[in-house]
Order: sequence, then C-alpha cells, then structure tokens
Amino acid sequence: MPQITPSPFRRGHCPSAGTPMESGDGLLSRVNLLGGRLDVSQLIDLADWAEELGAPTLEITSRGKLQVRGLSAQSETLFTRKLVAAGLARETAAAEAARHVICSVAADIDPKALHAPYAIAQQLDTQLSTTPALWKLPSKFLICIDGGGGDLAYKSADIRVDAISSAKGIAYRIALAGSRQSAVPLGYCQVQSCIDVIALLAKEFLSINEQRREKATRIKQLLNDDTFALFKTSVSDLLISVTPINTERTSAKLLGQQVGWFGFAPPFGVMSSDTARGLARLATAHGHYKFRVSPEKVIFIPGGLSDLSAPLEALGMIVTNGDPRLSLVACPGAPACLSGSTATRSLALTLAEHIPDLFDGELRTHFSGCPKGCAHPQASPITIVAQQGKFDVIVNDRATPLNENKRVAQNLSTEELAMRLSTLSNTLQQARRDDESLSDCIARLDIEQLKIKLNT
Ligand code: SF4
Repeated sequence: MPQITPSPFRRGHCPSAGTPMESGDGLLSRVNLLGGRLDVSQLIDLADWAEELGAPTLEITSRGKLQVRGLSAQSETLFTRKLVAAGLARETAAAEAARHVICSVAADIDPKALHAPYAIAQQLDTQLSTTPALWKLPSKFLICIDGGGGDLAYKSADIRVDAISSAKGIAYRIALAGSRQSAVPLGYCQVQSCIDVIALLAKEFLSINEQRREKATRIKQLLNDDTFALFKTSVSDLLISVTPINTERTSAKLLGQQVGWFGFAPPFGVMSSDTARGLARLATAHGHYKFRVSPEKVIFIPGGLSDLSAPLEALGMIVTNGDPRLSLVACPGAPACLSGSTATRSLALTLAEHIPDLFDGELRTHFSGCPKGCAHPQASPITIVAQQGKFDVIVNDRATPLNENKRVAQNLSTEELAMRLSTLSNTLQQARRDDESLSDCIARLDIEQLKIKLNT
C-alpha cells in the first residue's frame, strides 16, 4: 500500500486533522463533520479542546467543517489524537485529507428536498479515505452531493451530483466544475450509481492530470472539449436517459422555526467555546441532542421545536432570515492571519450597523483581508478587499477579480469606504425595480455609470 503523507504546515491547501495550516495565530486545523452531523457531547468536547489546546473559538467553514485556530505543533498532535479517538477523524492524516465530500445536511428533514444523500456521502467518504489511489486528489478537490432542496445549489464543486425528479423516479444530474447553474452537465445516473460515477470521474481526473506537466488542483483548470469527452466516456456505461421535471428549486428560508428544524447562525460562522457550550446546554434543556452544521454556516436543531429565538439571541446567534449580519462574509483578517492588514470582521459589523439599507441580509458582501479571498473564493455582488490599510470595492466578481473592470473604487481609507458604500446604497435604492433584490439590481447596473457615481 503506498504511503502518501501530506507534509505538515503547508500553506495554500485545505487543512485537516493531522495536516494543519500555518496562520497568523499559529496552526489551524479542521474537523470534518460528514453530513454536518454533530452530537451535543461532541460540540462540548470540541469547545473544551479548542480552549485547552488552541484559541477558544470554533469557526464553521464554507465546507461545513469546524475550524480550530491557534494550535502549536504539540497541541495540534494532541488535538488530532483526541479527534481520532472520538471518531471525528481518520487514523492517518492522509486518509483524513482524502475526505472531499459535502452533501445536503438536512435533506432528510427538508420537505423541499428530493432525496436524502447522506448514505451516499457516507459510502463515498469511506471509499475515498480507504483507497490510497484516490489520496492523490488535490486537497481543495470538492465533491458535492445535493439532495435537490437548493441548499447547495450555489456551491462550486469539481464534481457535483444534484437530485432531480423524473417520470422514472429520482435520479442524479452529474456535472463538472461549478455550481448547479454553472457546472458543465455530463448526464444523469441512477441513485445507486452515484458512488461509482463519482469515483470514476475522480480517477479520470487523476489520470488526465498525470499526463500534464503543470498539475491541476481543480477540474476547471483542465476542462476542455477533449478532457470532457474523456470524463464522459469514463462513466458512459452508467449514464441513463431521463427528462427532469421542475429541477429549479431555490433554498428555503433556513433560520428560525421551520418545518423539520430550528435554524440559527453564529455571526460569520464563529462561536466562542463558551457560546458553543451554551448552545449544547440549551439544546439539551429542550430534549435535543444533535445538531447539523451546514456549509451555509447555519446550524440546524432537527425535530419539531418550540420557539428558541430568545435564548439563541441571548447567545448572540442570528435567528431571523433578514438579519443584516447574514449579508456579511469575512475572513478573520489581522491579526489572526499573517496576510491580513485589517480586522475584517469588526469593520464589516460597523459598516453593516451604519448602512443597514445596503446590508439587508440578502445582498452578500464579502470583506477580504487580502486579495486571496479565502472566506468566499467565488464572486459576490460586493467584495471589499483590504491591502495595507486601504480598500478596493469590486462588484459581481471575486476578491481577485476575473475582470479588472469590476474594480469600481480603489485605494480608499476607512472613511472613504464608508462614504462610497453609502453612495452605492443610495444608488441601488433609486435604481431598484419593484420586488427586485439588491443582488439582481447590482448585477444589472451599468458598470461605467456606477464607477462615475462612486468616484465623483
Ligand atoms: S483572505 Fe483573509 S484569511 Fe485569507 S490570507 Fe487573506 S487575510 Fe488571510
């Protein structure tokens, strides 16, 4: 059996238990909660271990993992041992790093979902972590299994399968390199073929990549007409012909009291160890012992619940869908990250408080401590990028924009940034059509006109 041991402390990769990453405040590790499953007792353990061995916070990542910061080389080793002993990580760092699967975490309790993919995700997760040939998949490689409820439609993945309904029953749509909307569709397969299809595509990626001098870390880097044909051929025996019925589903309101769960969100996905223990106590007091943690940084308490809004708000949680803090995405920035020059989260909260019309809970605004854009690698309606204490504003693109023309204001001081965002807010309110969301409005505005308004 080949031994592939990821070198510890690498930067520019996805950290996992046993393969930490350096950050401004020490080493950073992540706990992979397959399907977002987390018991009350596990949350308490993680809160205690974070406090004892690193920084006393747990952060939900964009893949729905729990991140612990501030570890030393020694304490990270101890942390990983505890995770393995608790069944929260695989025995070896290589096997743990090979777990590339996310799935809809609440599909079994979501009336809008078509299929609950947790069992598929479990089997695939086992296959990935026990098949050394697949350990060569790059650490950022992502496989997304969406149960069709719309919760992971936005998620850009290397391989994604989305449940669809058809006259023949439930099937999965297979697509490469993107979100549900942008991924390149490859065909359909039966539910029971999903695991084989995904494994074959992952192996095909490795085979194509092997031939390349410059190795790809994501499928989109090597996807062209020729490689697409190779991917399709690799799974052709498992493709079926179906006509999907009404595949377009949008995500339900997630927060508060819903059919099937009570949803809440820690601001920025971050909770202190004290808060985490408080959440565990609160759930237990109401007779609930399990959480689901989602890549949307929402935590679900499954089951029919009474209204927990007041005690959850007392713990600092967001419980309503229009809360301005839901507009905010931000990396930790300085001082936690060596690459950051600004405390991004406190700046985001201050601006959201001062310009509530812009931060309406719908319009996503990404505050990035540097152009790397770790907190949200995809495009956002608004992205604010800090560099050496100054700020750029980018619309409808990423922190490092694919199109430089989307950088609508540059090199702003904090005060200038606040003024430009106020101007942007006024512009959007005036231009907005009836029932139009701010995201749709900003997507339709003429970029040159917007630059003139913001910079004069
Ligand atoms: S985007 Fe934020 S977390 Fe990522 S490297 Fe830059 S400052 Fe650090």
